[in-house]
Amino acid sequence: MAEQETTTPAEVAKRIRAVPKSLAEKMAAKGSECPIPFTHDRLAEVPHWWHELARNYHEPVPFRYVLGAFIQAARNVRFMLQNEKAKFSDFGFYAEWVAKVKTDPVMQWLNDERVGVVHQRALEPKSWLEMRCIDNPRMVAVDEEDEDDVSHPFRFHANPFMCTHYYMENKQREDHGHQFERHWESEGLPGRELLSGCADVYDRLDDLVTQAHEVLGHKVVKYAGGDASRQLPCMENTLSYRAVRTVIRDGREIWQDEPADLHHP
Ligand SMILES: [Zn+2]
Ligand SMILES: [Zn+2]
Ligand SMILES: [Zn+2]
Repeated sequence: MAEQETTTPAEVAKRIRAVPKSLAEKMAAKGSECPIPFTHDRLAEVPHWWHELARNYHEPVPFRYVLGAFIQAARNVRFMLQNEKAKFSDFGFYAEWVAKVKTDPVMQWLNDERVGVVHQRALEPKSWLEMRCIDNPRMVAVDEEDEDDVSHPFRFHANPFMCTHYYMENKQREDHGHQFERHWESEGLPGRELLSGCADVYDRLDDLVTQAHEVLGHKVVKYAGGDASRQLPCMENTLSYRAVRTVIRDGREIWQDEPADLHHP
């Protein structure tokens, strides 16, 4: 008992949840070969494109291209599972999964033939970019009630189809930084922000592939559980990708923690 006293409840909880560091680790069936390697490989491609979506969230054109790649990769998971159908003596779980996702708006959007290529037109009606001044010296005595008023001169909507670099370079020389918050939404998936919608898609596919492993007697490590709302921890907080900040350094506006290799004007 003495030994246990040195372990805090927080440490115990941490061990129980044992968050896997990567998708490979999460899905690995320890000490055994994957029974459906092609499906598994396809599933692993989906978070790759999801991260590219997050990375390009402030680059309107690459964002659309990557969204197209995400959609293709996500669709391929079930095609590949159907190709590996011979591994299963009972494929009933697949029909059950299909029936379950049929009424799910994100999966309906994913499987809609027209969604394959994402045109700017589809994003135009509901997407937005909000800019907010940070520590603007002219921002005097802003009322608390004004906080949510986007018509306020220090908090305003801008064209979301221009990238964040554009706004950093093409305005009056500024003496203060800004917050840029974006929201991409497609006509085909009304009421849903796309990065979180795509995280939903991943969760559904992860479910399917996890079930497929279990039906074949292979265990997978689950991250979800406790207060986790996602299958992968990196997909939980989408606002961290959607909102970025700039600061003024040596008279220039600098993007804090700018992702590597983005477009530069
Ligand atoms: Zn596997
Ligand atoms: Zn400003
Ligand atoms: Zn740019």
